[in-house]
Amino acid sequence: MSETRHTRLLIIGSGPAGYTAAVYGTRAMLEPILVQGIQPGGQLTITTEVENWPGDTEVQGPELMVRMEEHARAAGTEIIGDHIGSLNLSSRPFTAKGESGTTYTADAVILATGAQAKWLGLPSEETFKGFGVSACATCDGFFFRGQEIVVIGGGNTAVEEALFLTNFASKVTLIHRRDELRAEKILQNRLLKHPRIETLWHHTLEEVVGSDNPRGVTGVKVRDVRDGTVSELPCTGVFVAIGHAPASELVVDQLETHNGGYVYTKPDSTSTSIDGVFAAGDITDHIFRQAVTSAGMGCMAALEAERFLASLEEPVDEVAAE
Ligand code: FAD
Ligand code: NAP
Repeated sequence: MSETRHTRLLIIGSGPAGYTAAVYGTRAMLEPILVQGIQPGGQLTITTEVENWPGDTEVQGPELMVRMEEHARAAGTEIIGDHIGSLNLSSRPFTAKGESGTTYTADAVILATGAQAKWLGLPSEETFKGFGVSACATCDGFFFRGQEIVVIGGGNTAVEEALFLTNFASKVTLIHRRDELRAEKILQNRLLKHPRIETLWHHTLEEVVGSDNPRGVTGVKVRDVRDGTVSELPCTGVFVAIGHAPASELVVDQLETHNGGYVYTKPDSTSTSIDGVFAAGDITDHIFRQAVTSAGMGCMAALEAERFLASLEEPVDEVAAE
């Protein structure tokens, strides 16, 4: 059933940025509505151990996000399981249309839609997505027990995925286009010491090779970037872990963006190019992209939204009005 809900503050996204904004926004008595999107809890729900969230030496990503949701609910946030299909920022109140049929109107909006995994864009990658090609080891690793797997990438995600996949695979090969990893040193050490992980430096994925019936991966063709030679490696799983792109498609034509679609925010602020619209977390951050920095920006966004909403309610200064 279609209905229209008005709120002073609409928070879009349920990762660390969204839930932190919700806690602060609710405690500021703004009575926010938070719309969770199709990935309640955000990116940390597809990982295992998180070892750099202050206060927890080690915590499972999904568990941390359940706790954040519980915290926001306990504070009194209204949390809605819906996904925003379109957002109109051309006039206030801003209008967001949920895929449930509900329309949300809001005096202020916090965008906390985070980031999504990038793909290589190869036709063969597309053919075998869900049939041996994946971007989520925690979701799909289990299907590769006793098998040989390759992981593409050299950042934290690739190294963590490779390490996690050793729980299932007989062998994991990390394929990276350079001979230097971007991942944290502690993760690099674990990877390089692992007896079931091999590294293939200076190589890129050229093609995923497989069969049609039943559809499945049998290997990968890889290119040596130094001399262009192509060779084949047997494997049944390919995990693409080459980074994340900002989930800014709702606003990319309406707000100023930079560095390939990240929403621009003013210095030392979460304010965007439209008054009353704030952005927090990975949607705006092309540098740090951490849970703790996202949470920090969620806090800033709620405090700035509070100030913005208060300014709307200030009586017009009589002298200024004359
Ligand atoms: P996200 O967590 O990306 O959440 C985005 C939210 O927006 C989701 O809830 C989604 O459903 C919602 N959404 C998107 N579009 C819409 C829409 N149209 N309508 C409504 N909702 C929408 N960081 C660390 O600090 N430590 C780690 O150990 C760590 N491990 C990681 C492991 C992996 C595998 C990955 C992928 C990332 C990891 N990160 C880690 C990075 C961390 O997860 C992110 O920096 C953080 O989650 C970003 O938080 P966010 O709130 O900005 O957005
Ligand atoms: P990332 O840091 O951007 O790394 C992407 C990796 O993929 C890089 O090594 C890059 O190679 C490679 N790559 C990119 N495009 C490629 C292509 N077309 N072909 C081949 N290789 C390609 O991404 P990420 O690892 O997903 O991490 C994203 C953010 O989340 C980071 O800020 C990270 O710190 C954070 N995160 C943190 C943790 C943690 O704290 N434990 C865990 C996961 C993620 P080059 O190095 O050559 O550029």
